[in-house]
Amino acid sequence: MKELVGLCISCNKEIFCLDGFFNGVITKEKENYCFECYQKISKIEEKPQS
Ligand SMILES: [Zn+2]
Repeated sequence: MKELVGLCISCNKEIFCLDGFFNGVITKEKENYCFECYQKISKIEEKPQS
């Protein structure tokens, strides 16, 4: 089963729920991102604490 959840707000890629697996991320602000874009923003927003 493949269900369209929404579009990535960064690159407009379609985000699907595949057999219960969501191939993207929804933030606290209810913004949809694909994994690639979420990794980019999370690198910017969450700097590694080393
Ligand atoms: Zn994206």
